[in-house]
Amino acid sequence: MTESDAANTPAIAPPAPPTTGPSKPVPRLSTRATVRRCILWIVIAYVAGTASFILGWVGQQASPAAMILGIGLYGGCIGVVSSSGRFRRRLQRPFIARSLKVGYGIRLATCIIPGAAMTVDMFPGIIAVMVGDVLAKGYGLGNFTTTLASTLVQGTLINIATLAIVLLAWLFQKMFMEWKPPIRDTRDCAGCGYHLETLEADTTSICPECGQTNQGLNDRRPWIDRTSWSKFLLVVIPAGIAGILAQGGTLLLIG
Ligand SMILES: [Zn+2]
Repeated sequence: MTESDAANTPAIAPPAPPTTGPSKPVPRLSTRATVRRCILWIVIAYVAGTASFILGWVGQQASPAAMILGIGLYGGCIGVVSSSGRFRRRLQRPFIARSLKVGYGIRLATCIIPGAAMTVDMFPGIIAVMVGDVLAKGYGLGNFTTTLASTLVQGTLINIATLAIVLLAWLFQKMFMEWKPPIRDTRDCAGCGYHLETLEADTTSICPECGQTNQGLNDRRPWIDRTSWSKFLLVVIPAGIAGILAQGGTLLLIG
């Protein structure tokens, strides 16, 4: 290093930026985890689409098989995308993870609040029916094809609306909130995230920071990955059927 270089080099190095995320790349999920996400999202899509399905079948004489296929395809697509390494890398960023939770959480809430999904889906539904009409009259396509196209258009519009909420939630956090490094180490305290160096799989450790008793390594895998296949299906399928019946019942009561 020459003297002029030394003069140009600051005596104190600027603080290193906070390290974000794990150093190793995030892999895509296993086949088992991907299949489970697909099943979960397909069930959610059917619950969310129940009102539109009934209205399309009864009101528009749409093909029920095409609607079932279209809604299932949409749910499956979301399942595959959410399991990809690329998506999971994005999820490591807390603002993005939280924004997605807000956006798709609101979407799920519309499936639980009676009549909400039907009201929210009315506008995309009208556009989807118009697209189907254009395809049927302009191109002479059959009922199955036009219904499938309508269903995919409606799914796309609903996801665009949901992603707009995700974007708003992200912008809100970007403007008003401070970034904090995510907690993900299995030796981090479950209560406060303090790193417990001595915590092992078969030990108990009381956190010196918050007093929480940590039993073994904190497994942060979500329920969907931890549970057995039978428990997974025993929860998801009946919950889906209950959701579909609730949506259908609400439609009958209102309509
Ligand atoms: Zn703690």
